[in-house]
Amino acid sequence: MKLASVCVYCGSSFGQSPRYRDAAARLGTLLAEREITLIYGGGGVGLMGALAQAALSAGGEVIGVIPRFLRRAERGLDRLTRLEVVESMHARKERMFALADAFIVLPGGFGTLDETVEMLTWRQLGLHDKPIVLIDLDGYWHPLSRLADHIFESGFAQPSARRLLCLVPSPEAALEILAEAPEPAISPAAPERL
Ligand code: AMP
Repeated sequence: MKLASVCVYCGSSFGQSPRYRDAAARLGTLLAEREITLIYGGGGVGLMGALAQAALSAGGEVIGVIPRFLRRAERGLDRLTRLEVVESMHARKERMFALADAFIVLPGGFGTLDETVEMLTWRQLGLHDKPIVLIDLDGYWHPLSRLADHIFESGFAQPSARRLLCLVPSPEAALEILAEAPEPAISPAAPERL
C-alpha cells in the first residue's frame, strides 16, 4: 500500500535495553527518509521522544496528539510539525487513528498495549482495515502472541482473527510488510461508532 502516514505506539519509558531506544530512533529515521509522516503521542519522553527526535532530525514530518493534562508529564515536544492538544485519552486515540494509514508498535508498557489492543479490536469488529504491525524486538511481544494463542485455543476469538496480530523482528521488516499490505478496502468508521 502507499503510505502517507504511520501511527507509532511505543513506551513513554526507555525500557532496560538500549536496543529499544536504538530501534525507536531507527524507525523515526526510516519514516523520515521515506517521507512518511509520523503520527505519535506527542511526548518527549522515553521511546516516544527518541522516535520523534530522530524523525525530526532526519527532516521528517511529525504530528503529535497529546491530552492537555499530560502535556507536562510527557513533556510535549514543541518543535513538531504540528502538536494537536486534545481533551482526553480517548480523543487522543481517536485522532491518532484518523490521521494514520497504518500502525507500528514498538516495545512499551500498559499505554502501548492499550492503544494496540484497541486498534486490533476495532479491526476485528470491521470498523477499519488499516494494517497493524508489532516490532517484536528481542522477543518483547512473544508473551502477547502466546496470550493470543491461548485466546484462540480457548474459543474466545475466531481463528480468522489470528492474522491481525502481525509480529516482525525489526523496523525495516515492519515497513516492508506495510508496503506489501493491500490498500484498505473499507472506509474507517465515523468517530461516533468508535
Ligand atoms: P506506556 O506504554 O505505558 O509508556 O504508554 C505509552 C503512551 O500511551 C503514553 O503516551 C501514554 O500516555 C499513552 N496511553 C496510556 N493509556 C492510554 C489510553 N487509554 N489512551 C491513549 N493513550 C494512552
